[in-house]
Amino acid sequence: MLKQHRELSMSIRRTIENNDEAGIRPSKTYQSFVAAAGGHRELNFIEKDVRNYITREVRNVSEQEDAKEFGKYLLRMKEKNPNFFFELQLEEDQSIKLAFWADARSRAACEYFGDVISFDTTYNTNRYNLVCGSFVGVNHHGQSTLLGCSLMKNEEIESFKWLFQCWLRCMGGNAPKGFLTDQCASMKRALEACMPTTVHRWCIWHIMKKIPSKLNGYKAHADVEQQMSHVVWNSHSKDSFDRNWNDFLVNFGLADNKWLSDLYEDRHIWVPIYLDHHFWAGMRSTQRSESMHSFFNKYITRNSSLIQFVKQYDNCLGSREQAERESDAADFHTVIPCATKSPIETQFQDAYTQAKFREVQAQFRGKANCITRLKNSALGYSVYEVGEQVSSSILDKFAVTYDSVAAEVKCQCLLFESRGILCRHALSVLSFEQVSQVSPRYILERWSKKINLFDAASAAHSSSSQYQGQVINYQFRVPAAGDNSLGV
Ligand SMILES: [Zn+2]
Repeated sequence: MLKQHRELSMSIRRTIENNDEAGIRPSKTYQSFVAAAGGHRELNFIEKDVRNYITREVRNVSEQEDAKEFGKYLLRMKEKNPNFFFELQLEEDQSIKLAFWADARSRAACEYFGDVISFDTTYNTNRYNLVCGSFVGVNHHGQSTLLGCSLMKNEEIESFKWLFQCWLRCMGGNAPKGFLTDQCASMKRALEACMPTTVHRWCIWHIMKKIPSKLNGYKAHADVEQQMSHVVWNSHSKDSFDRNWNDFLVNFGLADNKWLSDLYEDRHIWVPIYLDHHFWAGMRSTQRSESMHSFFNKYITRNSSLIQFVKQYDNCLGSREQAERESDAADFHTVIPCATKSPIETQFQDAYTQAKFREVQAQFRGKANCITRLKNSALGYSVYEVGEQVSSSILDKFAVTYDSVAAEVKCQCLLFESRGILCRHALSVLSFEQVSQVSPRYILERWSKKINLFDAASAAHSSSSQYQGQVINYQFRVPAAGDNSLGV
């Protein structure tokens, strides 16, 4: 075990490099050598040699060399699959300024699930302090799905503009309908400039998290948080939100608080009653992006090189894909039985993935707490009041309208509009009206168990497919001297 007798053979070095790329810790790699050799004594090196080899040989590359390897990796991915997309902008010194990439499958997924995007940034994913931003959507099983990834030197407006324009080029110019972010002024300005028709929403969770620091010194901030959360979530009309917000400010003596009055001015961008008539696929906070970040933080550390980062990101994609494959298979093999004899429930059972059908069933169960009262009716258009017993002492009331000519039902709670699931109140009215089949407009293709992305992604490889025509094909651009951008 003297230093001069210890050595790492060629094959041992290869294994260490491969394991390091796969995010396997040096101690685990060493243990695997011990197990394969039959004990510590059988090896002519120690764990410290493995660690030293990684820091000295594998990770000891300059930022520029790493950026070059990263660019080459993206190019190789593009050569393997022409639908892989990336754009790269380098600094004068050839380090990374901005990067965006999305694989063929993410682009195919965006055809179905690119309607609502949660975007969030995170640090500590690489050794150069580049900010990592991820685009996350919701698939037909309600799972988070990674749709694109970016690295940025800073979080200035121009960087976000570059990134959002890149996203549009990648996704054939289709801007999402809804875009969720945290409360960041540069993101807001960049979004307004790049995607003017997209509805932007701030994550409520981020806003609530700021209460203790923004109301610093205010003793009752836990009560403030509870009351504010109640006002925000339980105001069923803009008028009632205004009244409740005002009462809340008066109760806590916070009418002059600048932070709260600014939040009120910006209410259309974060308060549900101002946003829930738009579709959000069940997303109300960027927590999906955050849980995705913590998911890939398991594989990536603040010491990761760019090349390790991009490969690990690819591994994350693979593992998410596996989760989706498993859910697809479950939908193919098993059907959840209906809880009622309602032919409407059967319609959803036939169409939806298990996860979404379970949500529909929860609404069917919730119907039992609802009392429907017809308020008035004329020319096939009826107005109802549905009372819902939410606890032993609280009865919430919801206005529901039903148009029998257009077969259209609308509830004040906006569950269908925001989440794409018919609410218990609307279902109660449909029962009252003895409607046995809902109009196809209430059965969203987006939650359909027939979506098969594995077919879509392989179709994306075939030049004759319809899908190919929907994706703009970018040509390789060879960077001219002095041109620091590279892309496809
Ligand atoms: Zn409702």
